Amino acid sequence: MHPHSPVCWICNLRTVDADRAGPLPFVQICSGCEATTQGYDESWRLLSRYLRDNWRDITTRGSFDLSKAFAVATVGAAVNVQLFFVKVLGSKLAADRIAVDLAPFASALLTAKPHPDVSLLVADAGVPQGKLYSYDSDVSVLRAGEEVQSALWMYLLRPVAIKICYLKAGAPVRVPTDSHPWHPTRQRKIVKLSPYKGDTQPLVARRDLRI
Ligand SMILES: [Zn+2]
Repeated sequence: MHPHSPVCWICNLRTVDADRAGPLPFVQICSGCEATTQGYDESWRLLSRYLRDNWRDITTRGSFDLSKAFAVATVGAAVNVQLFFVKVLGSKLAADRIAVDLAPFASALLTAKPHPDVSLLVADAGVPQGKLYSYDSDVSVLRAGEEVQSALWMYLLRPVAIKICYLKAGAPVRVPTDSHPWHPTRQRKIVKLSPYKGDTQPLVARRDLRI
């Protein structure tokens, strides 16, 4: 065990590979968990390619159909896509030392079950001339005392923007009504686009709760 390598946040057993250099450098996990979660990466890779190849039609229609991107085993692939973003958001929270309980993130990844509190907003970021192609935002966090109530983070692969939204159960905020959070157990196949609204999108207070 290398003394300087951090312990993998998913399995809490093995250390992170020292020379790991992926496209998202903050994804610091061990090779065992990397292998376990490979299928999630693959499903996102396929969906991401489908989105970019069909983006003009998708933005005209305002939605896309996951069964077009995944002709077979659509429901499983949809879960994999959510788990890919559970992995990157969990890694980002771990790297930034944001105090969200990562145990449900790790257990979702290791059991291949969706995280109940993580949803995705898909939006059109457009392609302005000369602007950066891929980008990830800071995590926007809402705390009540020490407790993190929500964490919102954007991953942009122009023109496709994915906002990954962790909302703790019972959090006093919600996604605005003009947006369409997607979760694989709630909307199986059709994913509606949300308005882009820049880097991060402020959550709004729930009317039934007061902060
Ligand atoms: Zn691990």
